[in-house]
Amino acid sequence: MNYKETWQSVLTFLERDLSKGVIATFFGTAELAEIGEGRARILCPNRMALEQLRAHQSQLAEAFRTVCGEDHQFSFEIKPLVNTIPQDPGTLFHHAPPNGLADSYSFENFVVGISNQLAVGVARAVAEQPGALHNPFFVYSGVGLGKTHLLHAVGNSIKERIPDARIIYASAERFTTEFIRSIQSQQTAASFRRKFRSVDALLIDDVQFLASRTASQEEFFNTFNELYLAGKQIVIASDRHPAEIRDVQQRLVSRFAGGMITDIQEPDLEMRLQILRRKAADQQAQVSEEVLLSLAQKIEGSIRQLEGALHQLVAVARAQQAAPTEELLNAVVKTTMPVNPFITPSDIIGSVCRAYRITAEQLCSPKRSREVVLPRQVAAHLLHQISKASSNQIGELLGGKDHSTILHGLGKIEKQLATDEILKNQVESIRGEILGKNR
Ligand code: ADP
Ligand code: MG
Repeated sequence: MNYKETWQSVLTFLERDLSKGVIATFFGTAELAEIGEGRARILCPNRMALEQLRAHQSQLAEAFRTVCGEDHQFSFEIKPLVNTIPQDPGTLFHHAPPNGLADSYSFENFVVGISNQLAVGVARAVAEQPGALHNPFFVYSGVGLGKTHLLHAVGNSIKERIPDARIIYASAERFTTEFIRSIQSQQTAASFRRKFRSVDALLIDDVQFLASRTASQEEFFNTFNELYLAGKQIVIASDRHPAEIRDVQQRLVSRFAGGMITDIQEPDLEMRLQILRRKAADQQAQVSEEVLLSLAQKIEGSIRQLEGALHQLVAVARAQQAAPTEELLNAVVKTTMPVNPFITPSDIIGSVCRAYRITAEQLCSPKRSREVVLPRQVAAHLLHQISKASSNQIGELLGGKDHSTILHGLGKIEKQLATDEILKNQVESIRGEILGKNR
């Protein structure tokens, strides 16, 4: 395997732990420069990516261990800029599709249900009368629930009706990278401005990755204002409500709040089933209603995961020239949610107890004092992440708690992890210990 292939395999492995978005945004743009003698040197395109890779070191270590069969020490460096700046400013955006829009995401292939009907309604209105009704339009949700799809659908739909409308789809990360590259010379800086400020609709994805208090956020603010004042449509997607985005300045948050904010909820069973029917038909795959229902029952939450499991089922069935049966489905679902056989739930509980200096009895007791509630939530979180235990199983493991209590706790800790850096570090280090990093 050459470096490139090794890195690709590592990325594939990381999909077990991290969202595709995070991987594509931060890991996909990095490269493995050197590996050998237990060391791996990784080049990152920018500081943001570097910090993200650092923050996910334990997952990275685990992935390398699996791919290469040994442990590595990592060094992270920022790629020297000289190599990435094209000589001719005209070629600056040459490799990206000019407007970033992916044809395959449309309103036609977006299933509407209770969980997303408001967001879709607003998106359609925005596509019909860009700039007029809901500006900006801010949509947020957890991962894999269709934000990116919806942004592209808006862009494609405008494009369909007004073929020469200028539309740009870009992730906040891409906006930032292009901006940073552009300020190397006056010429490129000017062409960056022209590019983003001359559009009729600007679609910015994953805005939570806008770097804090930097020139690029300033640039985004100015771009936003200019477009907004000119009555151009702005659509923004994020993994959380504007008020909860930590790194974004207050004045930008209040701009976001000036338009329409909607969220997308997790799909209910009926909608999951409908999505599966739709995707199976798109792939011209004959999958029985029972198998689809069973899949819809097995995978809740992310539509991306649902779609991934169906893909895999169909692919495996085709490869084996067999029908996609319930049995095959069970095998597939098991592998899409791998369980680490070497780590038992009691390893996880043990590590959490050690870290918080409490006993397993205390952790599993009915007590609800602060000293045990947080460790319990951390344990639930790690049991969920590492052992892929269901809320029912976690409830059992933690002394017979109700699954709704566990779900509530999981929600709470995840929210907290998103904002509390100290807690995040604590949990990362416990996780590292469990995965054998510090042993
Ligand atoms: P997000 O940006 O919220 O993480 P994506 O837009 O990337 O999610 O969606 C993940 C996958 O699920 C994509 O392949 C998308 O096409 C699909 N998807 C999401 N919601 C729907 C829906 N309502 N109907 C059909 N496909 C959907
Ligand atoms: Mg997305």
